[in-house]
Amino acid sequence: MEKIILKGNSTSSTIIIDERIENTVKYLPNKKIFIITDKNVEKIYRNSFPKAPVYSITPGEKSKQLSYVENIYRWLLENNADRNSFILGIGGGVVCDIAGFVASTYMRGIEFGFVSTSLLSQVDASVGGKNGVDLDGYKNIVGTFNQPSFVICDTNLLQTLPNDELVNGFAEMIKHTLISDEHLFDLMEKECDDLLQLKQPTISKHVSYSIKVKEKIVASDEREKGIRKLLNFGHTWGHAVETLTGIPHGKAVSIGIEFACRLSMHKGLLLNRDYLRIINLLKTFELPVCTNQSPTKIFDILVKDKKRNENRIDFILLKGIGKPAIVSMTLDEIRDFIKQ
Ligand code: ADP
Ligand code: ZN
Repeated sequence: MEKIILKGNSTSSTIIIDERIENTVKYLPNKKIFIITDKNVEKIYRNSFPKAPVYSITPGEKSKQLSYVENIYRWLLENNADRNSFILGIGGGVVCDIAGFVASTYMRGIEFGFVSTSLLSQVDASVGGKNGVDLDGYKNIVGTFNQPSFVICDTNLLQTLPNDELVNGFAEMIKHTLISDEHLFDLMEKECDDLLQLKQPTISKHVSYSIKVKEKIVASDEREKGIRKLLNFGHTWGHAVETLTGIPHGKAVSIGIEFACRLSMHKGLLLNRDYLRIINLLKTFELPVCTNQSPTKIFDILVKDKKRNENRIDFILLKGIGKPAIVSMTLDEIRDFIKQ
């Protein structure tokens, strides 16, 4: 078991790696506990939950709506939740986003913690203290920055995670190695078989490395001004692919990583040898590196997403594996590149 302490501006939060879900009760304060989860997680793990009232949402991003959140507020009220209550979110990123948002706003904010059950939420959502819901198709447009008291990442829970969801998490893990440390990338290459089979202790070691990469970046830039932009590696193009095709986030990010690496090579920053290694690793983790959608269509969506009258886009590129760079490019420059 390993603990990583995250120090925020006003609060601090602890990520506990490889604690079992059954031991969650050890970390709970002496308060009235309310659990928010989703129906899939509840079905498999209900017996391991601490004893407390449970609110179970429909799994999936569609549940990240204010109308659903209202129902949770009502449930809390009906069950006499007060300022001194504690919300425990048990689930993937969607549950944590909703539980964190509800806890941050109910009675102007009450204490909360998570048991993070998906690979994506363990390596990504568990760090950063962001929460929120979607509105009119805009993702996470209503939300807060607020740290949970703790996040328990029990990697044994990943055994029941559907393969498609697992792959989403691996995409962010590969991203973390690429923007931080060539050795971590080497290690993912070497230990890919064990990782794909979720073998212990390899999987928890890599989850821990990945969390530390994100934690270090977030700690130096809690409010997303500068260096935190590096976490957007693969996401500028990836988000547009996600919007256009509706494919899962991790797969879209993988396509975005390929694009950013190809662009890096085109700019003379990245060696072809390294590009090929990156593509290989993505493929090893069953991630796509191309789409049959036209690049022009993807680019149009990307431009629409940006603020008007901005004729430049900041891309996160690579000067090598583990060596990111923020490069500002004009729209024309990118247009020329994708026409090649
Ligand atoms: P994220 O990928 O951001 O964590 P979700 O919270 O939507 O997104 O989780 C992805 C899907 O995986 C959901 O359908 C959720 O119910 C399911 N899920 C999460 N954790 C587990 C788990 N440990 N075992 C089985 N299914 C899980
Ligand atoms: Zn992402």
